[in-house]
Amino acid sequence: MALPFHLLEHALARVHLTALRDQSTQTDLFRWHLSRLAGLLFSEAARNVETEEIEVQTPLSITTGYRVSRPIVLAPILRAGLGLVDGILPLVPQAVVAHIGIARNEETARPESYYAKLPAALATAEVFLLDPMLATGGSAVEAARQLKAAGATRLRLVCVVSAPTGIAAFRAAHPDVPIFTAAVDDGLNDRSYIVPGLGDAGDRYFGT
Ligand code: URA
Repeated sequence: MALPFHLLEHALARVHLTALRDQSTQTDLFRWHLSRLAGLLFSEAARNVETEEIEVQTPLSITTGYRVSRPIVLAPILRAGLGLVDGILPLVPQAVVAHIGIARNEETARPESYYAKLPAALATAEVFLLDPMLATGGSAVEAARQLKAAGATRLRLVCVVSAPTGIAAFRAAHPDVPIFTAAVDDGLNDRSYIVPGLGDAGDRYFGT
């Protein structure tokens, strides 16, 4: 049976993830490894983006080449999702970066949007929702809902570490959106952190 997510199987991804998990990895190296891993994950997630044939003149002859046919939109969920953008932009420098701010309402315990800056061309774009940690899935579910409401139809979720709870919640809410991840961990602790995980991705990336 097909897995409900795409697991990145790559020796270098495992090495980068190990460094991210290591609590002694300091901010500078944490950023470096996260960027490298984001690039590997994005390459996998973008494997099937739509391309179109073009003619290209080499120094020797004309041959067939390809270009990406649709706009690429990266949509990091603030704040930790920003940590994935630097590693992806060199691969798709034409990409537009949307921003989605979602925070948990402490009274209702539900994720709520506090900021959204989305491009106009969402309906035709290949949209990559970025969040390093898929824990309960609440933020990713809400962000995907917002992106769809704004017109996105070709959506993928890219996350570094996932918990089974988050995968199940996201799949239930958005069965049409493929999930790309580098690891599926054991579960969540009582504060909804992924175990073994890598701690608070935003704190470790920004050094706060
Ligand atoms: N967000 C994080 O940064 N880490 C977790 O383990 C869960 C959510």
